[in-house]
Amino acid sequence: MGVNELKYIQEAFDENWIAPLGSNVEAFETSLEQYLENKTFVAALNSGTAALHLALIILGVGVGDEVICQSLTFAASANPIAYQGAKPIFVDSEKDTWNMCSKYLEEAIKDSLNRGKKPKAIIFVDLYGMPAKIDEILDVAERYQIPVIEDAAEALGSKYKNQKCGSFGSFSILSFNGNKIITTSGGGALVSKSTEDKSKVIFLSTQARENALHYEHKEIGYNYRLSNICAGIGRGQMEVLDSHVEQRRNNHQFYVDLLAGFKGVDFQREFSEDFFSNYWLTAITVDSSKSGFSNRDLMEELKRNNVESRPVWKPMHLQPVFKDCLYFGENIAEELFNKGLCLPSGSNLTKEQKERISEIILRYK
Ligand SMILES: *Cc1c(COP(=O)(O)O)cnc(C)c1O
Repeated sequence: MGVNELKYIQEAFDENWIAPLGSNVEAFETSLEQYLENKTFVAALNSGTAALHLALIILGVGVGDEVICQSLTFAASANPIAYQGAKPIFVDSEKDTWNMCSKYLEEAIKDSLNRGKKPKAIIFVDLYGMPAKIDEILDVAERYQIPVIEDAAEALGSKYKNQKCGSFGSFSILSFNGNKIITTSGGGALVSKSTEDKSKVIFLSTQARENALHYEHKEIGYNYRLSNICAGIGRGQMEVLDSHVEQRRNNHQFYVDLLAGFKGVDFQREFSEDFFSNYWLTAITVDSSKSGFSNRDLMEELKRNNVESRPVWKPMHLQPVFKDCLYFGENIAEELFNKGLCLPSGSNLTKEQKERISEIILRYK
């Protein structure tokens, strides 16, 4: 937490306005819109998952439809497709950014068209904060006229070609879950490109109440709006976002320096000047045939010393729950999963903690 979160919560108490909606929600949205630039319209919701769900609903995704989704991601990217009774089609990553490969994206689209289906949407991810090769993805999508959703849940503060992540595609989603670069304890946002879409999101997220004194409903609605209390935390967190990004990027540099002499260790890294990552997490791959130790060895050793590290997300096409879904790619995502490791990356890692981590990792040199 920064310094002002409690102050904004106190304001909500002073106004006696604890219900969803209220001045913190609007102020938080405005602050996000200003931060993202690029004519964005932000609706604050109670999770990133809810934001993805509403994006799919507004794009008209329904039962039996197909939606293309990056395979290497957290399950929340794909679950809302299933909520709508639609089918996810998973696409592999490419090696440079670990994100959606535009070549396999096009293959997946062509396959759908051959079966007489046209995918209703494409969901790509800026994994661990690293922007995807967004132009390539948008190019393919444009050629086939398919709307794109950017899952920027992990990438607030990142930039692609100097444009903020969370502002690409027809819609972008953000998450303010407890583990993200900023948090509202739980929360998310749907970023759209027009006031009409933003109004529609707010309408759907507040039970789709028509403008009538009595409670009139013509559509199914949802209870997805962010509370005024959580939005107060969000306002305070916006004031520390830049410093969190700086701290996470420092963490990344710390690991790059630490692991410089190690054979077989590679990083998810900024591939060219087009990419600016918030480095929400620093992720590496370990090629045990060159390094002499595996990602799991390192994880176990860290754990023995009470230091938490984590595997890379298990790709969705390998998950039991999605085993019947189509997949296009080779084995890049799978290899990243097999060799990958996410290192301790908190915005509050202390110098002493980094020294402890160094000591453990240097035993492998
Ligand atoms: C966290 C996350 C989400 C979901 O956000 P919630 O706010 O937890 O619902 C979606 N996609 C990715 C890639 C995430 O990391």
